[in-house]
Amino acid sequence: MAGAVWAVGEVVDGAITRMSTEVATVARRLADAAGRDATGVVVAGDPTGPSTELAAYIPRVLAVAAAEAERRPAAAVTAAHVAALAREARPAWIVIGATPDGRDVAGALAVMLDIGVLANALDVAWDGAAGPVVEASVLGGRVLSRSAFTADRGIVLLTPNVIAAEPAPAAGVVEVAASGAVDVTAVAVVDHVAAPAEQVPIEEARVIVAGGRGVGSPEGFGIVAELAELLGGSVGATRAAVDAGWIDYAHQVGQTGKSVRPALYLALGISGAIQHRVGMQAAETIVAVNRDPDAPLAEYADLYAVGDLFEVGPAIVDEIRARRGQGRSDG
Ligand SMILES: Cc1cc2nc3c(=O)[nH]c(=O)nc-3n(C[C@H](O)[C@H](O)[C@H](O)COP(=O)(O)OP(=O)(O)OC[C@H]3O[C@@H](n4cnc5c(N)ncnc54)[C@H](O)[C@@H]3O)c2cc1C
Repeated sequence: MAGAVWAVGEVVDGAITRMSTEVATVARRLADAAGRDATGVVVAGDPTGPSTELAAYIPRVLAVAAAEAERRPAAAVTAAHVAALAREARPAWIVIGATPDGRDVAGALAVMLDIGVLANALDVAWDGAAGPVVEASVLGGRVLSRSAFTADRGIVLLTPNVIAAEPAPAAGVVEVAASGAVDVTAVAVVDHVAAPAEQVPIEEARVIVAGGRGVGSPEGFGIVAELAELLGGSVGATRAAVDAGWIDYAHQVGQTGKSVRPALYLALGISGAIQHRVGMQAAETIVAVNRDPDAPLAEYADLYAVGDLFEVGPAIVDEIRARRGQGRSDG
């Protein structure tokens, strides 16, 4: 059979990431369409648990135990092992999630295996003659491109949260794989420091309350944060708010921020520019509050409330608290 489709898994805190399940779903569908094998690869200090998790999404998983993953940069260790395995097995297509580590893995693999990368993938379809055809968002989200590889091998770097992970009809098999001694960077990881986070990171959140230039100041994000807390969600922001220094970049949604896929996206004082839209349009329900009835977001929000966010926001807070039988925290 012609070369397989591989999905490279990513392990954080001993568990497979949600992005990895999206990558495995795409690799499996691509392999099904192409009539090829689909294989996941998990490289970790102890790959057993995360490999089993990934096998729910793909028929076969290669579990690579790499003790050095504990003390060397994970992306470098993963790339070295995947490259060694790929030199043997010669997969045709390798799908990787465009997380910070995933980008590093893709870059390193491209050099080590001398193959090309198609980045910013929003979708991948199989075209018999052309192979995988990758739809990507380019030029700041203004253009959607469709590209194919010129060779019969390549790497697809999948944007997070653009496709819904879907378990395979039956769980796959996990095989212990060894790639032998690999040459990994001498850079040592001396410590892991978790960023202070009271909230779920936005790329994992089920509810996001986001603020834009309309909130006007760091203090303006108070109502955004209050609503997020009340709804059990996380705070998002536009680039305008981040560039103004009102909130950290980790909260930015959009073309040059994160792609999110919450059940509810509540946008306060956000116009809904295309570069913001590409990061949040996968939300199941989009609700917006804006005093301009004609902002772009009005065209694609499920519910668009025209009004001042500093009046509508507190009114929503009051309504939620009233329904829950609570008073407002600030009286
Ligand atoms: C290459 C490139 C990449 C980019 N990447 C991103 C990205 O990743 N993410 C991103 O978000 N943007 C990105 N942008 C910027 C993007 O084009 C927009 O400029 C930005 O999204 C606008 O942010 P905003 O909606 O907060 O501000 P604005 O467009 O200024 O909209 C503010 C809105 O708030 C409303 N408003 C004001 N006051 C109130 C109030 N009191 N109550 C209610 N409504 C009010 C206004 O009516 C207005 O609609 C990028 C741009 C480029 C060129």
